[in-house]
Amino acid sequence: MSTATAAVTQPKPAVKMPRVKAQEPMLINGKWVASVSGKTFATLNPSTGEKICDVAEADKADVDLAVKAARKAFDDGPWTKMSASERGRLIHKLADLIEKNADELAALETLDNGKPYSDARNIDVPLTVKCYRYYAGWADKIHGKTIPVEGPFFCYTRHEPVGVVGQIIPWNFPLLMQAWKWGPALATGCTMVLKPAEQTPLTALRVGALALEAGIPDGVVNVVPGFGPTAGAAITSHLDVNKVAFTGEVTTGQLIMKAAAESNLKRVTLELGGKSPNIVFADADLDAAVEGAYFGLFFNQGQCCCAGSRLFVEDKVHDAFVEKMLKKAKSRKVGDPFDPATEQGPQVSQEQFDRVMSYIDIGKNEGAKLLHGGSRVGQRGYFIEPTIFDGVSDSMRIAKEEIFGPVMNILRFKDIDEVVKRSNQTCFGLAAAVWTRDITKAHRLAASLRAGTVWINCYDVFDAAAPFGGFKMSGIGRELGEYALHNYTEVKTVTVNLG
Ligand code: ADP
Repeated sequence: MSTATAAVTQPKPAVKMPRVKAQEPMLINGKWVASVSGKTFATLNPSTGEKICDVAEADKADVDLAVKAARKAFDDGPWTKMSASERGRLIHKLADLIEKNADELAALETLDNGKPYSDARNIDVPLTVKCYRYYAGWADKIHGKTIPVEGPFFCYTRHEPVGVVGQIIPWNFPLLMQAWKWGPALATGCTMVLKPAEQTPLTALRVGALALEAGIPDGVVNVVPGFGPTAGAAITSHLDVNKVAFTGEVTTGQLIMKAAAESNLKRVTLELGGKSPNIVFADADLDAAVEGAYFGLFFNQGQCCCAGSRLFVEDKVHDAFVEKMLKKAKSRKVGDPFDPATEQGPQVSQEQFDRVMSYIDIGKNEGAKLLHGGSRVGQRGYFIEPTIFDGVSDSMRIAKEEIFGPVMNILRFKDIDEVVKRSNQTCFGLAAAVWTRDITKAHRLAASLRAGTVWINCYDVFDAAAPFGGFKMSGIGRELGEYALHNYTEVKTVTVNLG
């Protein structure tokens, strides 16, 4: 147990705690219903390990009902027949309602996920609102082309909604991941069945209620909390689901792709893991690089698929960099996520806590040098010290596998060709970052790094307009921006005989 970091404190009354029912129902066809089986599961507060409430547990029968409702809303409902601008207006209304209920949603997110309230309120919720507003703007700007084909024909394309969409999201950014999935799906006129992560179902249900309040018609959005192998698998293998969008682990993504292939060849987009290189050259603004690397790894308790978890530091500045980084990490405040001073809350669950702690042991056993942290904070909840390993080599498991926790791995490098080669020596390709004052070097690396996003002299800069997704085993397809719309539309070619 650490003495350097603050012990877990009690919630401060400054934040109004959200109200939850003892038993939260699920949302199917605009109605709040219990599961067909009557089963529920507990969602826990990661700060204490105690139950927040029970949630209706969806399984195949519930997914069937939700898909049926989504199909009906797609085939018959007012949703797909209303004008695109009206659809955009309803998405704007949803964004406004989320903004109006920002305090409550942020508190609910913190309660269920453990992230600091200040992050949930200042980062997650505003980005969620912006995402819906961005896609609201797209609703009436999605159109095809006229094609100059040979002969007396008029040829044009229509970009039509792909249909009923299954969406399976993780627990690290519940509100945002829902927005990344719902935004483009609503804008294109799809209907959807969303399964939130079993660890964090509460904000998805609350946003479902706000969608109804906004006037989004019954059956367009359905929320079915439950577990992956049951509710999740029922979505991915369903014959009446036209597309599945997933964010989560690589191995789960592989299962989902297989289920999609073996059922009805539904379209698949996957946003999976990463082991992103963050490269600091000796000519960088060192303070900015330290700040960026610190944020790029420790933000959200290290639970980011794009975390800069392979931190390459050029030999010449290694010692100075490490000294500055250590100073920051030592002062990081870990504790009650409702305390405004807290920078780091608990990991999301016992399972994730155990996984991160086991990687810390692996790092020690592999011979990496533990510079700071490595222990649990407090006696209850899933708090871990910000941890820094130096002297990490490429072959170590902590340098190759996704840890998904507050564990920084520092690797040294000597020259540009070497660091490019080592950065790309991974099955992942989600993100990368480069810190340098040399513009030539920066662009050379931007082109050479095999990753879906490259940040230069910044980290974790997200915008609803900028696409995000992975090369290699980090995923298939792009979310956000105009690119995401392609995943939710089918292109139809229409040819008219003018002869
Ligand atoms: P993590 O280990 O970080 O929880 P997962 O990939 O297991 O990552 O979970 C991400 C989401 O995928 C969650 O909503 C989870 O319930 C769901 N999931 C897990 N297994 C499956 C599966 N076999 N089929 C469909 N969804 C799944």
